Amino acid sequence: MRQTQLFIRTKKDAPKDEVSRNAQLLIRAGFIHKEMAGVYSFLPLGLRTLNKIIQVIREEMNAVGGQEVLLASLQDKEPWEKTDRWDDEKVGVWFKTKLKNGTDLGLAVTHEEPMTRMMTQHISSYRDLPALTYHFQTKFRNETRAKSGIMRMREFLMKDLYSFARTQEEHDTLYASLKEAYKKVFKRVGLGEVTYPTFASGGMFSKYSEEFQTVSDAGEDIIYVDEASGQALNTEVLNDEVLNDLGLKRENLVEKKSIEVGNIFSLGTKFSSPLGLTYKNEKGESLPVIMGSYGIGPARVMGTIVEILSDENGLVWPESVAPFRVHLLSLNADEKAEEIYTALSGAGIEVLYDDRDMSAGEKFTESDLLGIPYRVVVGKRSLVSGKAEVKKRTENESQEIAFDDLISFFK
Ligand code: ATP
Ligand code: MG
Repeated sequence: MRQTQLFIRTKKDAPKDEVSRNAQLLIRAGFIHKEMAGVYSFLPLGLRTLNKIIQVIREEMNAVGGQEVLLASLQDKEPWEKTDRWDDEKVGVWFKTKLKNGTDLGLAVTHEEPMTRMMTQHISSYRDLPALTYHFQTKFRNETRAKSGIMRMREFLMKDLYSFARTQEEHDTLYASLKEAYKKVFKRVGLGEVTYPTFASGGMFSKYSEEFQTVSDAGEDIIYVDEASGQALNTEVLNDEVLNDLGLKRENLVEKKSIEVGNIFSLGTKFSSPLGLTYKNEKGESLPVIMGSYGIGPARVMGTIVEILSDENGLVWPESVAPFRVHLLSLNADEKAEEIYTALSGAGIEVLYDDRDMSAGEKFTESDLLGIPYRVVVGKRSLVSGKAEVKKRTENESQEIAFDDLISFFK
């Protein structure tokens, strides 16, 4: 993409009403637009990164047998009344609305109820199980705190996957495969080293759930990490019973602030029983389906990457989620730069090409702010040497690469 055709404007200063680093940097770099507190829109570069995160998650969900669907965000209250989650006293973050004729509707707060009800139409026999369904769909939550930028929004996309199993053993196998898939997701997006599976309260569903917590001072949670085992505990379940079940020692635990980037829940029959999701086993007996649910917020992951990896000069994207792989800067060498842009793009390398008429200093500063993994500079000097200057965003030293070798360098 040519920057002369990119409509966004970057900003020198952080917006005054933003306290979170992720929102400050993403707004300055023109990745997102703030609509109001807790509500953000995604601009071309931000959307490319969000979509890359979504694609990583999609690939890992498909790899464990997930089938992608798309449920509606306008919700019928009937299944929520059956599970006793319609009442604002029970779920405090609902946004609700009404049809013209007065009928109550919910704006999707999550999707356990409609997903379970939908599956009653498709599961009736042991032969239909196990099943894994997931979607990327907007959730609306009337969050009271909205100070964490795109990590806590009032309208946000969630990947939520639901597992449907015949027995507890079958559920445990699915749960374990999802836990591994989550580890792969966080590793691929560059958060693997600082993200821990963390025991947390199972809420109304089970004894424990597991959260994936990324250690960061920007986090709203407190966890206790056991480095040796790579497992952590949320402060809400720090008690002797849990420690014993984890064979963890109070001493070995280190307190850290963290961001919940994902979580996985065993639901048992909490939803299948009230909503009548049953199957007939080999003997013809009717049994409730054993369920699990597994969430990740792609924008919270994106905000977390910014919190963890950005530096004093701006954003720093891992290659797996960067909006472009290469940022090509022409410094008064447009003809050669055009040639390189065409060649790299033709070879399938994603290039953002700064073809604007601006000073070298301005281009460098903005390139650092955008955080694209490789900067390739073509200037007057390169025309003489036949080489471009290539620098990684994470390194200070650049290297000279002959024009003819650029494609193989990036391939
Ligand atoms: P939290 O305790 O941080 O509010 P939660 O327990 O409400 O999270 P879930 O309802 O299980 O989280 O949502 C699943 C995932 O969706 C979370 O792990 C997180 O990645 C993401 N998520 C949750 N709330 C938000 C939000 N307000 N904005 C962006 N992403 C969110
Ligand atoms: Mg919440």
